[in-house]
Amino acid sequence: MTTQTLTHEDCLDHRPDRPGECRGEVEYRLSPDRQDFKAFPRCEAHWEQRLESAGRTLELLSDTRPAWFDEGYAGERWEEDE
Ligand SMILES: [Zn+2]
Repeated sequence: MTTQTLTHEDCLDHRPDRPGECRGEVEYRLSPDRQDFKAFPRCEAHWEQRLESAGRTLELLSDTRPAWFDEGYAGERWEEDE
């Protein structure tokens, strides 16, 4: 692996119209919720955001059935007496 200097323009989440969002070193980083072990260049600020969203994704995936799952079996009837 050759050493190269990455700039904020190399950050995967860099927006030319919002240049102030990139902060810190830009490095190739592995996303924890990816299975293919591909690394993408990201600055520290965007990497932290990415980690947070990855944490939320893992939480959602590991979630059990939602609390409303059984409500359809509460014994309610839709028929109306005439
Ligand atoms: Zn960035």
